[in-house]
Amino acid sequence: MAPIPFVREIDVAYGAVVQVSPLIRRVIARNPGPFTYTGTGVYIIGQGEVAVIDPGPDLDAHFEALKAALAGERVTHVFVTHSHLDHSPLAHPLARWAGCEVHGSAGIAMETPSDVRMEAGDDLRFRPDAPIRDGARYEGPGWTIEAIETPGHTSNHVCYALLEENALFSGDHVMGWSTTVISPPDGDMDDYLASLEKVRAREFSTLWPTHGPPVTEPAPFLDAYIAHRLDREAQILAQLDAGQTKITQMVPVMYAAVDSRLHPAACHSVLAHMARLVKRGVVDSDTGAASLEAAYRRAG
Ligand SMILES: [Zn+2]
Repeated sequence: MAPIPFVREIDVAYGAVVQVSPLIRRVIARNPGPFTYTGTGVYIIGQGEVAVIDPGPDLDAHFEALKAALAGERVTHVFVTHSHLDHSPLAHPLARWAGCEVHGSAGIAMETPSDVRMEAGDDLRFRPDAPIRDGARYEGPGWTIEAIETPGHTSNHVCYALLEENALFSGDHVMGWSTTVISPPDGDMDDYLASLEKVRAREFSTLWPTHGPPVTEPAPFLDAYIAHRLDREAQILAQLDAGQTKITQMVPVMYAAVDSRLHPAACHSVLAHMARLVKRGVVDSDTGAASLEAAYRRAG
């Protein structure tokens, strides 16, 4: 597999507000974990009249830290990348406190099956006040945010570009410390790869994921991130060519080096690839649809 040049070095001072670029400050919530790495990084854009991206989990200490960080300023926009519990729950409380609107995708994500909890969890109640359109721009003094729809991790995922710094707040779409979980039915590998290409084409200077440090060389990182998925797809096709028909047979071979307790999650990742291969007509399923139980073979 092509190695991804992961970046994992990050100074974490929970609750403190840290200036991380001329226009960007960050506050990290104390919710570290297997899916959130060192916790949710909340980004504050601008000075005086500011935007907040992904207010994060609904934790009292975190809300207090955000209010302290924003004291004396006016929050004009709250943006949400997607409806997961480590990103969106504090959006409405913060917007109510600030007297502004919550912007995000109007798309409602499907619930993750409970047997494959590979994420911090769905925030099924999340609805924006103001639905975003792809390409919509929002302005404050000295800053311009552009919404970029990036479905894949969830069907309603949106990244936000900060045009003045040619930077992208990449949410969970691109993470420096890890690959992203794509879990059907809401997660869609075909959409995901298209969204990676969409971000790649913009040639951003810096990516600011919600979890972990920034990616300061996005082009080679995204190339490796995309190649990693295509390598996985090639492995699946090799398994089919070797006569394996079931996802549950392929995973112990493909993930032989991985702790078997992680194999159920790996099955869902392979399912995400299989759904893309079926959708593209490369692979046939005996049931006509991609599922964990189906038998697969090369099409044609
Ligand atoms: Zn997420």
